[in-house]
Amino acid sequence: MRLVLLGAPGAGKGTQAVILSEKYNIPHISTGDIFRSNIKNNTELGKKAKEYIDKGLLVPDELTIDIVKDRINKPDCSDGFILDGFPRTIFQAQELDKILEGMGIELDCVLNIDVSDEKIIKRLSGRRVCQCGKTYHILNNPPKKEGICDSCNGELFQREDDREETVIQRLETCHKQTEPLIEYYEKSGKLVTVEGRESIDDTTKEVLDALNGV
Ligand code: ADP
Ligand code: ADP
Ligand code: ZN
Repeated sequence: MRLVLLGAPGAGKGTQAVILSEKYNIPHISTGDIFRSNIKNNTELGKKAKEYIDKGLLVPDELTIDIVKDRINKPDCSDGFILDGFPRTIFQAQELDKILEGMGIELDCVLNIDVSDEKIIKRLSGRRVCQCGKTYHILNNPPKKEGICDSCNGELFQREDDREETVIQRLETCHKQTEPLIEYYEKSGKLVTVEGRESIDDTTKEVLDALNGV
């Protein structure tokens, strides 16, 4: 299964990607996670990416596309992959098409998780994350012990770009630069849209139903 997850920041892409990655036994590739680990390790890429991420803007295409190209060429992607947060611009989508064409493969499905802006703001303001990559929500998906990661006992924190001012800019960036991808993939016949539900489990059911039809 070669899958792209599309949706606003906070729509639940990462949450569903983790579940699907286990179910289908294919890697979850999140460009956001890759940038964050580069920031943590203070790499050149991390330093450049941080300038944009902190402002709620997209990291330039030329810093983003090669990372994905290298990643999907790794052997563990030979049976498929889940791209979460890439592509985010029409240019990235066109480049992805070229990369896949060069590899003699194509996407099976682009799953668009649709959630209203109002809900997005609630989701992002309550999101808490762990160093280990786990994501929680203070109300919708709380850890067993407040502020502590269930799987590694690490201390949970709020992402800097989940502060409200940055969230508003990220939503605007999404409307302007990422939403045109819905039409792009509709034209290619690969788009499936599911409505993001109030609970993670209900959303997973919708997603699995949608993927069964692919
Ligand atoms: P994205 O990867 O699209 O930015 P996340 O998967 O990180 O989104 O989810 C954003 C926040 O919303 C997290 O705090 C997550 O726990 C919560 N969340 C995810 N899916 C749902 C859902 N269906 N209902 C309620 N909260 C959700
Ligand atoms: P979310 O799903 O909550 O928006 P991500 O973790 O996917 O968050 O991305 C965090 C930030 O990393 C984005 O706001 C953007 O600045 C940058 N980013 C991630 N993926 C891309 C991409 N494909 N192109 C450009 N910038 C990206
Ligand atoms: Zn953890």
